[in-house]
Amino acid sequence: MAVHGTVQGTREINRAVVTGGAGFLGSHLCEQLLERGVEVVCLDNFLTGSPQNVLHLMEHPGFRLVRCDVTDYVHVPGPVDLVLHFASPASPLDYLKMPIETLKVGSLGTLHTLGLAKEKGARFLLASTSEVYGDPLQHPQREDYWGNVNPVGPRGVYDEAKRFSEALTTAYRTSQGIDTAIVRIFNTYGPRMRADDGRAIPAFVGQALSGRPLTVAGDGSQTRSICYVDDTVRGILALAFSGETGPMNIGNPDELSMLELARWIVRLTGSESEVGFIDLPVDDPKVRRPDTTLAAERLDWHPSVSSEEGLRRTVAWFAAQRDEAAAQAG
Ligand code: NAD
Repeated sequence: MAVHGTVQGTREINRAVVTGGAGFLGSHLCEQLLERGVEVVCLDNFLTGSPQNVLHLMEHPGFRLVRCDVTDYVHVPGPVDLVLHFASPASPLDYLKMPIETLKVGSLGTLHTLGLAKEKGARFLLASTSEVYGDPLQHPQREDYWGNVNPVGPRGVYDEAKRFSEALTTAYRTSQGIDTAIVRIFNTYGPRMRADDGRAIPAFVGQALSGRPLTVAGDGSQTRSICYVDDTVRGILALAFSGETGPMNIGNPDELSMLELARWIVRLTGSESEVGFIDLPVDDPKVRRPDTTLAAERLDWHPSVSSEEGLRRTVAWFAAQRDEAAAQAG
């Protein structure tokens, strides 16, 4: 029997729209929504995602994939109870290559998806990011910290797009009465990340599996908190199905340096790769760790997958992908 979620015990969530649903996080969200008995309409223009990520869902009677650029328009026939706006390039490599697309999906894309939520009377959840804190002067970062962002630096296109999306979402809440929530997602990793998306974990795993040196930026002392995708998606859905508005941090407060991360990956892959060093990117944050007190108190959410276990699962997935590609190549 289908188990449907409720918001504040009043709103039934039977049908959800996920923009960017064919991406890394979006595909896991679609999967977990379907598991909860919620029908899913996935909107994606495949800019950085791929239909391959949701291929296993195509036979599901509750799943529909629609090719759509949400910066043009968003039209979904029938009732919608929840709109999850996840469309946006998210890896630095992607948004540095596609600065205008990134700003457009954060502005026009958010406007159109908020319009959909208004038209349907649906709850709206915005995927924001820890990048709104920029290179933070407060550590760990709490939701009431305003951030330290360079609007004209290279990363500004992503950070400011998300800051604008947050402002727009808040304006729709306060002036239009739309039921909205904002989640600030911290670095998340796991199966279905693109091997070539430029983020540290897929890059290190690929380098380690092929015996090449791992390319650590700077001296590797900069820190990140990494959260396994199942934990992140569970947190996002807990927020979506609550009556909370956010902004709310979702991430794993366990902090590790990039050098530690590289060494772990070498060990978990059993690789003989060396660890090498490359230049630090401009405006690269030196530290990043969420304060997750709010999510713990309001949603009773806590990450449960250790970094070691999550990295082990991720390494296993990338290794299986490589084996499959090698087998297909002959
Ligand atoms: P991703 O690149 O894998 O997924 C983004 C998806 O959005 C892709 O499928 C892409 O094709 C789609 N898309 C982009 N522009 C679009 C448009 N104009 N119309 C329709 N679809 C469009 O990235 P991800 O890591 O899955 O991130 C998903 C969301 O979560 C993003 O909004 C990102 O900012 C946010 N986020 C992710 C992380 C993380 O660690 N992965 C951290 C913080 C925030």
